[in-house]
Amino acid sequence: MSEQGASERESMDYDVVIVGAGPAGLSAAIRLKQLAAEAGGDIAVCVLEKGSEVGAHILSGAVVDPRALDELIPDWKDKGAPLNVPISEDRFYMLGAGGALRLPNFLMPPLMSNHGAYAVSLGNVCRWLAAEAEALGVEIYPGFACSDLVLRDDGSVKGVVAGIFGLDREGKPKPDYQPGMELNGKYVFIAEGVRGSLAKKLIARFDLAAGCEPQKYGLGMKELWEVRPENHHPGQVTHTMGWPLGMKAGGGSFMYHMEDNLVSVGFVVHLNYDNPYLFPYMEFQRFKHHPLIAPVLQGGRRIAYGARAISEGGLQSLPKLSFPGGVLIGCSAGVINVPRIKGTHNAMKTGMLAAEAAFAAIAAGRGGDELTSYGEAVRASWVHDDLKQVRNVKPMWSKLGLIGGLSLGGLDMWTNQMFGFSLFGTLKHGKPDYACLKPANACKKIDYPKPDGVLSFDRLTNVAFSATNHEEDEPVHLQLKDPSLPIASNLPEYDEPAQRYCPAGVYEVLEDENGKPYFHINHQNCVHCKTCDIKDPAQNIDWQVPQGGEGPNYPNM
Ligand SMILES: Cc1cc2nc3c(=O)[nH]c(=O)nc-3n(C[C@H](O)[C@H](O)[C@H](O)COP(=O)(O)OP(=O)(O)OC[C@H]3O[C@@H](n4cnc5c(N)ncnc54)[C@H](O)[C@@H]3O)c2cc1C
Repeated sequence: MSEQGASERESMDYDVVIVGAGPAGLSAAIRLKQLAAEAGGDIAVCVLEKGSEVGAHILSGAVVDPRALDELIPDWKDKGAPLNVPISEDRFYMLGAGGALRLPNFLMPPLMSNHGAYAVSLGNVCRWLAAEAEALGVEIYPGFACSDLVLRDDGSVKGVVAGIFGLDREGKPKPDYQPGMELNGKYVFIAEGVRGSLAKKLIARFDLAAGCEPQKYGLGMKELWEVRPENHHPGQVTHTMGWPLGMKAGGGSFMYHMEDNLVSVGFVVHLNYDNPYLFPYMEFQRFKHHPLIAPVLQGGRRIAYGARAISEGGLQSLPKLSFPGGVLIGCSAGVINVPRIKGTHNAMKTGMLAAEAAFAAIAAGRGGDELTSYGEAVRASWVHDDLKQVRNVKPMWSKLGLIGGLSLGGLDMWTNQMFGFSLFGTLKHGKPDYACLKPANACKKIDYPKPDGVLSFDRLTNVAFSATNHEEDEPVHLQLKDPSLPIASNLPEYDEPAQRYCPAGVYEVLEDENGKPYFHINHQNCVHCKTCDIKDPAQNIDWQVPQGGEGPNYPNM
């Protein structure tokens, strides 16, 4: 599919090529090597990662359920995996502007309990998994962005193009140009996480989402704080709903106390909101001033900031997981348990199941065909059960708002978990998120307080704390299908919501010397969250992968 530089490109062959060194991709790689060792042989596996190092682009809460890790590496504790803080306390609150109502834990369905889980830096967990994978012989190439697919003559996926460097803004080669390589495999695993750019192509090419509900998303924003020792309660987990989003827009917050006085504080806004004036980043900033939250952060310092979309469609939106030559694993398919805000365990398990399917196929002399047994294995696994129990929470919240949605959603989780059935069957999500905005003239503007620079920060200052970089002179990786559209239609109709939904300030509407508005893209700021690709009402923004090693450089998020 990729023409530019194709004739100059060298290729390398593997048994399995994995795109993305997140929990899904790394677990798949480890499992493949384990199976080969058990069979007394070897298997050639490579993992390609667009971040400058493994973990650089990983942004998560994270409270991790170790269920998949227990299966993958049962002695992970002895091996020093960085899961050091067991959850000690679970707190759920409904917030009002000035107060907070704690919901009794006994009302919560048991599946909402974090007992047995750990507060971690998922980036560090991935760094550790990568070291385990390398020790088993997996080749991991950070700084390698996979920008295209390589197809066989029969249309099946043969590999990926990775490592194109040195193009200028017009896409012409600069002196340091490198045409990239083709990395081919008997099977290609797509483990790009939410809204992957290759996954998007594959879902369209092979019509993998046929018959599914549209995928739904949230935007998750997070800061890492070092707090005063007296404010630190290792293992404490707090989730809130309500203020500042109110009863209609969906979302909520998380605050996880980790080790070394570190607290992860974050906010998720469901991207099906309808008011184009809603400014997710500013909702997050004002949230931190709530009397439940501010005292924890006061006297501390923000160490890092980042943002990432989160898939929320769950079971109803799960696409077909295999296509000729490869599979979707982890959040490239969308395996997050929405009410628990947890996807890592499912991402890892899908990676392991895909590894088992591919290993059996390769051992039988196959390659390049469709691994249908992987989809069947996921349906028969605890991943399916995990998603099934909570399948109605998101559609109920979307349709009935906070109170109705959560009350019925809670009841539904109870009946699903206790008796294995739902009074409601399986509810539909309805519209995709990009189709949910109302015209600006039908909506109220929202006044946001100015950040105080102590607890809350302006967007550009915060983006500096993601250590994001992109070259100035390179193709803009945020491609507008129709460059006139933001000003011609998004601006009059929706007051161009990209100005607000982007958590990194990439999109601006500026005026030229004649006072004429124009749309400006600061691609250098992009933190790779993919919200623009999801929420643009005209679906006019195509997020393409920039050259490898660019984007955020999260330390231990
Ligand atoms: C704010 C937030 C809070 C969350 N909290 C929790 C939590 O507390 N607990 C929990 O279990 N889950 C949580 N999740 C969900 C969890 O992060 C995901 O379920 C999990 O990370 C999915 O793993 P993955 O391997 O599928 O994808 P990812 O973790 O997204 O990893 C994908 C990797 O692929 C790389 N990549 C993408 N495209 C390419 C490409 N084309 N070429 C090369 N590399 C590429 C990326 O850089 C990244 O490193 C949260 C998510 C968010 C956004």
